[in-house]
Amino acid sequence: MSDRASGDDSMIIVMSSDASDHDVAHVVERLRGIGAEAHISRGQTRTVIGAIGERAQIQQLPWEAFPGVERAVPVLKPYKFVSRDHHSDDTIVDVGGVPIGGRYLTVIAGPCAVESREQLFAAAMAVHSAGANILRGDVFKPRTSPYTFQGLGEKGLELLAEARQQFGMPFHAEVVDPRDVELVSSYADMIRIGARNMANFALLAEAGRQDKPVMLKRGLTATIEEWLNAAEYIYKEGNHQIVLCERGIRTFETQTRNTLDISAVPVVRALSHLPVIVDPSHSGGRRNLVAPLARAAVGVGAHGLLIDVHPSPETALVDGPQAILPVEFAALMDEVRAVAAALGLDLPPGRPR
Ligand code: PEP
Ligand code: MN
Repeated sequence: MSDRASGDDSMIIVMSSDASDHDVAHVVERLRGIGAEAHISRGQTRTVIGAIGERAQIQQLPWEAFPGVERAVPVLKPYKFVSRDHHSDDTIVDVGGVPIGGRYLTVIAGPCAVESREQLFAAAMAVHSAGANILRGDVFKPRTSPYTFQGLGEKGLELLAEARQQFGMPFHAEVVDPRDVELVSSYADMIRIGARNMANFALLAEAGRQDKPVMLKRGLTATIEEWLNAAEYIYKEGNHQIVLCERGIRTFETQTRNTLDISAVPVVRALSHLPVIVDPSHSGGRRNLVAPLARAAVGVGAHGLLIDVHPSPETALVDGPQAILPVEFAALMDEVRAVAAALGLDLPPGRPR
């Protein structure tokens, strides 16, 4: 890590609620004048300016004496822009017209991998009619053995785009190679960076330089701070539409595929303004755990769920044991709606196309 990101080199300048555009522009101009970067974040009640540069240079100026400035506080966290200090309101990410974040509870569902037109369309029809908001389906699937199914590549993206058209639901897919970011983002409404690539900095930066939202899964052994730092890599490239996804971490426990870190949800919500969703499928790794983990996730404050649904899990080419059947998904959606209603959450409205 360079000195510029060492954690003691940034400052948050909080403008007062009656600061004018001119006051904001004046602070930005002075920051740029001393060689610092200035990132403006406009909240509902006030504007916050994130300053990054040489600490000594920034602190030299009496910011609190500037017109419209309420206070100036140094940021000690290694991640800055994704932190709540920088932006106090919840960020709501727009995925092809579907919101994730705030008071919404958004459900993303579909097969782990796109295997064929029949399989994808059967899954898409099922999740759509049960009320899911966004379709999932991966087309790049590097697996433990290079001789097993590796995904359909661009053909799979074409099928997903056809399903989007037919069912009127946006879709997202994982990208595993920085060279494929442009391809996946040219089709998908959101791209995903998987757990195994959470710390692939070239991929994070590439995802930050395109304009589709990015779902960033937590790495298998990543701390929450490492995960938020990974999000910061995307954010600082200019893409602020980031959704965090808790998908279970490696522990000593062997009864489950991973241990769902349920406490990560409220912890992340306190530290960051970005939405955080939960993947109960890859966490538990078993069909019978999906519903209980999904209910728990909603209860603890997740902004959404990412669920594997397959029309025929026993013939699935990837992750069959954790995929639930369409009928099980429909029952789960009823439970999710009940928990959401009890908590006063909104399910995003259907999207006319
Ligand atoms: C997936 O969602 O299909 C996936 C590969 O998940 P993860 O990156 O969390 O292992
Ligand atoms: Mn999977």
